[in-house]
Amino acid sequence: MREKKERNAAIVLAAGRGSRMHSTVQKQYMALGAYPVLYYSLKRFEEFADVDEIILVTGEEEVSYCKEKIVEAYGLKKVGQIIPGGKERYHSVYQGLCALKDCDYVFIHDGARPFADGEMLVRVMEAVRKYKACVVGMPVKDTIKMSDEKQFAVQTPDRSRLWTVQTPQVFSYGLIKEAYDRLFKGEYSGITDDAMVVEQTMHHPVKLVEGSYRNIKITTPEDILIAEAFLTADVSEVSGQRAGKS
Ligand code: C5P
Repeated sequence: MREKKERNAAIVLAAGRGSRMHSTVQKQYMALGAYPVLYYSLKRFEEFADVDEIILVTGEEEVSYCKEKIVEAYGLKKVGQIIPGGKERYHSVYQGLCALKDCDYVFIHDGARPFADGEMLVRVMEAVRKYKACVVGMPVKDTIKMSDEKQFAVQTPDRSRLWTVQTPQVFSYGLIKEAYDRLFKGEYSGITDDAMVVEQTMHHPVKLVEGSYRNIKITTPEDILIAEAFLTADVSEVSGQRAGKS
Protein backbone atom coordinates (compact mmCIF):
# COMPACT_ATOMS: atom_id res chain seq x y z
CA MET A 1 0.00 0.00 0.00
CA ARG A 2 1.29 3.44 -0.89
CA GLU A 3 2.36 5.45 2.14
CA LYS A 4 0.69 8.81 2.64
CA LYS A 5 2.44 11.75 1.01
CA GLU A 6 5.13 9.49 -0.46
CA ARG A 7 6.76 11.06 -3.51
CA ASN A 8 8.68 8.84 -5.89
CA ALA A 9 10.66 9.42 -9.07
CA ALA A 10 12.21 7.49 -11.93
CA ILE A 11 15.51 8.40 -13.56
CA VAL A 12 15.50 6.98 -17.08
CA LEU A 13 18.97 6.83 -18.63
CA ALA A 14 19.44 7.45 -22.32
CA ALA A 15 22.79 9.20 -22.58
CA GLY A 16 24.85 6.21 -23.77
CA ARG A 17 26.45 6.09 -27.22
CA GLY A 18 25.92 2.32 -27.61
CA SER A 19 29.08 1.36 -29.52
CA ARG A 20 28.20 -2.38 -29.31
CA MET A 21 25.23 -1.78 -31.62
CA HIS A 22 27.54 -0.78 -34.55
CA SER A 23 24.85 1.57 -35.79
CA THR A 24 24.56 5.31 -36.40
CA VAL A 25 21.27 5.34 -34.48
CA GLN A 26 21.77 4.86 -30.73
CA LYS A 27 20.03 1.78 -29.34
CA GLN A 28 17.57 3.73 -27.17
CA TYR A 29 16.25 5.58 -30.25
CA MET A 30 15.99 2.58 -32.58
CA ALA A 31 12.55 1.68 -33.88
CA LEU A 32 10.79 -1.16 -32.09
CA GLY A 33 7.35 -1.80 -33.59
CA ALA A 34 5.83 1.64 -34.12
CA TYR A 35 7.89 3.56 -31.53
CA PRO A 36 11.48 4.24 -30.45
CA VAL A 37 12.84 1.85 -27.77
CA LEU A 38 13.01 4.73 -25.25
CA TYR A 39 9.27 5.39 -25.57
CA TYR A 40 8.42 1.95 -24.12
CA SER A 41 10.87 2.42 -21.22
CA LEU A 42 9.31 5.79 -20.33
CA LYS A 43 5.74 4.59 -20.82
CA ARG A 44 6.18 1.90 -18.12
CA PHE A 45 6.68 4.65 -15.52
CA GLU A 46 4.09 6.96 -17.06
CA GLU A 47 1.57 4.19 -16.37
CA PHE A 48 2.88 3.24 -12.92
CA ALA A 49 0.81 5.07 -10.31
CA ASP A 50 3.48 5.05 -7.57
CA VAL A 51 5.91 7.14 -9.64
CA ASP A 52 5.12 10.87 -9.71
CA GLU A 53 7.95 12.28 -11.80
CA ILE A 54 10.34 11.05 -14.48
CA ILE A 55 13.77 12.60 -15.07
CA LEU A 56 15.03 11.74 -18.52
CA VAL A 57 18.83 11.83 -18.89
CA THR A 58 20.03 12.06 -22.50
CA GLY A 59 23.08 13.05 -24.51
CA GLU A 60 23.62 16.82 -24.64
CA GLU A 61 22.67 16.99 -28.36
CA GLU A 62 19.52 14.91 -27.91
CA VAL A 63 17.73 17.01 -25.28
CA SER A 64 15.53 18.87 -27.78
CA TYR A 65 14.97 15.76 -29.93
CA CYS A 66 13.71 13.89 -26.85
CA LYS A 67 11.53 16.80 -25.77
CA GLU A 68 9.84 17.27 -29.14
CA LYS A 69 9.90 13.84 -30.77
CA ILE A 70 9.35 11.61 -27.76
CA VAL A 71 8.02 13.39 -24.66
CA GLU A 72 5.70 15.91 -26.39
CA ALA A 73 4.91 13.76 -29.43
CA TYR A 74 3.65 10.88 -27.27
CA GLY A 75 2.17 13.01 -24.47
CA LEU A 76 4.38 11.69 -21.65
CA LYS A 77 3.15 13.97 -18.87
CA LYS A 78 5.31 12.75 -15.99
CA VAL A 79 8.61 13.68 -17.65
CA GLY A 80 9.35 16.80 -15.61
CA GLN A 81 12.98 17.34 -16.63
CA ILE A 82 15.18 16.32 -19.54
CA ILE A 83 18.83 16.80 -18.62
CA PRO A 84 22.20 16.01 -20.21
CA GLY A 85 24.09 13.02 -18.83
CA GLY A 86 27.78 12.35 -18.42
CA LYS A 87 30.67 10.28 -19.78
CA GLU A 88 29.89 7.01 -18.00
CA ARG A 89 26.54 5.61 -16.87
CA TYR A 90 27.26 6.48 -13.24
CA HIS A 91 27.90 10.13 -14.22
CA SER A 92 24.47 10.20 -15.87
CA VAL A 93 22.85 8.66 -12.78
CA TYR A 94 24.45 11.30 -10.57
CA GLN A 95 23.12 14.10 -12.81
CA GLY A 96 19.66 12.61 -12.36
CA LEU A 97 20.02 12.27 -8.59
CA CYS A 98 21.22 15.89 -8.25
CA ALA A 99 18.21 17.10 -10.28
CA LEU A 100 15.76 15.53 -7.80
CA LYS A 101 14.23 17.15 -4.76
CA ASP A 102 11.57 15.98 -2.28
CA CYS A 103 11.91 12.35 -3.19
CA ASP A 104 11.26 9.25 -1.04
CA TYR A 105 12.15 6.43 -3.43
CA VAL A 106 13.89 6.59 -6.78
CA PHE A 107 13.81 4.06 -9.62
CA ILE A 108 16.95 4.08 -11.77
CA HIS A 109 16.22 2.50 -15.14
CA ASP A 110 18.07 1.94 -18.43
CA GLY A 111 16.26 3.65 -21.29
CA ALA A 112 17.40 0.71 -23.40
CA ARG A 113 15.20 -1.73 -21.39
CA PRO A 114 11.70 -1.50 -22.87
CA PHE A 115 10.10 -4.50 -21.10
CA ALA A 116 10.00 -3.68 -17.36
CA ASP A 117 6.38 -4.71 -16.79
CA GLY A 118 3.90 -3.32 -14.27
CA GLU A 119 3.92 -6.39 -11.98
CA MET A 120 7.68 -6.14 -11.66
CA LEU A 121 7.42 -2.47 -10.72
CA VAL A 122 4.86 -3.31 -8.00
CA ARG A 123 7.10 -6.11 -6.63
CA VAL A 124 10.16 -3.88 -6.40
CA MET A 125 8.19 -0.93 -4.99
CA GLU A 126 6.87 -3.09 -2.16
CA ALA A 127 10.33 -4.50 -1.49
CA VAL A 128 12.11 -1.14 -1.41
CA ARG A 129 9.76 0.19 1.28
CA LYS A 130 11.07 -2.66 3.44
CA TYR A 131 14.73 -3.01 2.38
CA LYS A 132 15.63 0.53 1.11
CA ALA A 133 17.85 -0.87 -1.67
CA CYS A 134 16.53 -3.35 -4.25
CA VAL A 135 17.45 -4.47 -7.72
CA VAL A 136 15.51 -6.65 -10.10
CA GLY A 137 17.25 -9.63 -11.62
CA MET A 138 16.81 -13.28 -12.58
CA PRO A 139 18.63 -16.49 -11.66
CA VAL A 140 21.17 -17.33 -14.38
CA LYS A 141 20.29 -20.11 -16.80
CA ASP A 142 23.83 -20.92 -17.92
CA THR A 143 26.80 -22.14 -15.93
CA ILE A 144 29.13 -19.19 -15.33
CA LYS A 145 32.93 -19.54 -15.34
CA MET A 146 35.50 -17.15 -13.97
CA SER A 147 38.56 -17.04 -16.26
CA ASP A 148 42.17 -16.05 -15.75
CA GLU A 149 43.80 -13.43 -17.97
CA LYS A 150 44.71 -16.14 -20.54
CA GLN A 151 41.10 -17.26 -20.86
CA PHE A 152 41.40 -20.50 -18.90
CA ALA A 153 38.55 -21.38 -16.54
CA VAL A 154 39.67 -20.96 -12.93
CA GLN A 155 36.40 -21.13 -11.01
CA THR A 156 32.79 -22.28 -11.41
CA PRO A 157 30.61 -20.48 -8.85
CA ASP A 158 27.52 -22.28 -7.50
CA ARG A 159 24.88 -21.51 -10.14
CA SER A 160 21.99 -21.64 -7.68
CA ARG A 161 23.29 -18.41 -6.08
CA LEU A 162 23.98 -16.45 -9.27
CA TRP A 163 21.68 -13.80 -10.68
CA THR A 164 21.88 -11.58 -13.71
CA VAL A 165 21.04 -8.10 -12.60
CA GLN A 166 18.68 -5.83 -14.52
CA THR A 167 17.05 -2.46 -13.95
CA PRO A 168 15.07 -0.85 -12.39
CA GLN A 169 17.32 -0.55 -9.37
CA VAL A 170 15.32 1.17 -6.65
CA PHE A 171 16.48 2.93 -3.52
CA SER A 172 15.48 5.22 -0.73
CA TYR A 173 16.55 8.57 -2.16
CA GLY A 174 18.59 9.59 0.90
CA LEU A 175 20.58 6.35 0.77
CA ILE A 176 21.44 6.42 -2.93
CA LYS A 177 22.23 10.15 -2.95
CA GLU A 178 24.64 9.72 -0.05
CA ALA A 179 26.18 6.66 -1.76
CA TYR A 180 26.80 8.61 -4.98
CA ASP A 181 28.12 11.65 -3.08
CA ARG A 182 30.66 9.31 -1.44
CA LEU A 183 31.48 7.69 -4.80
CA PHE A 184 32.41 11.05 -6.29
CA LYS A 185 34.45 12.04 -3.25
CA GLY A 186 36.31 8.73 -2.97
CA GLU A 187 38.40 6.40 -5.08
CA TYR A 188 36.17 3.71 -6.50
CA SER A 189 36.42 2.13 -9.95
CA GLY A 190 34.72 -0.43 -12.18
CA ILE A 191 31.22 0.78 -11.35
CA THR A 192 28.70 -1.07 -13.54
CA ASP A 193 25.48 -0.69 -11.58
CA ASP A 194 23.88 1.35 -8.81
CA ALA A 195 23.66 -1.51 -6.33
CA MET A 196 27.46 -1.72 -6.39
CA VAL A 197 27.69 1.91 -5.31
CA VAL A 198 25.43 1.27 -2.30
CA GLU A 199 27.26 -1.97 -1.42
CA GLN A 200 30.72 -0.41 -1.63
CA THR A 201 30.26 3.07 -0.22
CA MET A 202 27.48 2.44 2.34
CA HIS A 203 27.92 -1.30 3.07
CA HIS A 204 24.15 -1.47 2.92
CA PRO A 205 22.52 -4.80 1.91
CA VAL A 206 20.81 -4.86 -1.47
CA LYS A 207 17.78 -7.12 -1.88
CA LEU A 208 17.35 -9.01 -5.16
CA VAL A 209 13.77 -8.98 -6.46
CA GLU A 210 12.39 -11.16 -9.26
CA GLY A 211 12.53 -9.33 -12.60
CA SER A 212 11.72 -11.09 -15.85
CA TYR A 213 13.64 -12.92 -18.57
CA ARG A 214 11.97 -10.56 -21.03
CA ASN A 215 13.46 -7.50 -19.33
CA ILE A 216 16.40 -7.41 -21.75
CA LYS A 217 18.69 -4.48 -22.41
CA ILE A 218 18.93 -3.63 -26.10
CA THR A 219 22.70 -3.81 -26.57
CA THR A 220 23.63 -5.67 -29.77
CA PRO A 221 21.75 -5.88 -33.13
CA GLU A 222 20.18 -9.28 -32.37
CA ASP A 223 18.49 -7.82 -29.28
CA ILE A 224 16.21 -5.78 -31.55
CA LEU A 225 15.06 -9.01 -33.25
CA ILE A 226 14.34 -10.59 -29.85
CA ALA A 227 12.50 -7.45 -28.72
CA GLU A 228 10.37 -7.46 -31.88
CA ALA A 229 9.42 -11.07 -31.09
CA PHE A 230 8.40 -10.13 -27.51
CA LEU A 231 6.36 -7.24 -28.82
CA THR A 232 4.53 -9.46 -31.33
CA ALA A 233 3.93 -12.07 -28.63
CA ASP A 234 2.48 -9.38 -26.33
CA VAL A 235 0.09 -8.20 -29.02
CA SER A 236 -1.07 -11.73 -29.82
CA GLU A 237 -1.43 -12.57 -26.10
CA VAL A 238 -3.60 -9.49 -25.60
CA SER A 239 -5.73 -10.15 -28.67
CA GLY A 240 -5.91 -13.85 -27.68
CA GLN A 241 -7.25 -12.87 -24.25
CA ARG A 242 -9.75 -10.53 -25.87
CA ALA A 243 -10.80 -13.22 -28.29
CA GLY A 244 -11.21 -15.66 -25.38
CA LYS A 245 -13.47 -13.24 -23.52
CA SER A 246 -15.81 -12.49 -26.38
O1 C5P B 1 26.19 1.15 -21.75
P1 C5P B 1 25.12 0.42 -21.01
O2 C5P B 1 24.45 -0.62 -21.87
O3 C5P B 1 25.50 -0.11 -19.68
O4 C5P B 1 23.99 1.52 -20.76
C1 C5P B 1 22.87 1.28 -19.95
C2 C5P B 1 21.97 2.50 -19.99
O5 C5P B 1 22.67 3.64 -19.46
C3 C5P B 1 21.52 2.87 -21.41
O6 C5P B 1 20.14 3.15 -21.39
C4 C5P B 1 22.36 4.07 -21.75
O7 C5P B 1 21.74 5.00 -22.60
C5 C5P B 1 22.61 4.70 -20.37
N1 C5P B 1 23.87 5.47 -20.28
C6 C5P B 1 23.83 6.81 -19.91
N2 C5P B 1 25.00 7.53 -19.86
C7 C5P B 1 26.18 6.98 -20.17
C8 C5P B 1 26.24 5.61 -20.54
C9 C5P B 1 25.06 4.88 -20.58
O8 C5P B 1 22.74 7.34 -19.64
N3 C5P B 1 27.27 7.72 -20.14
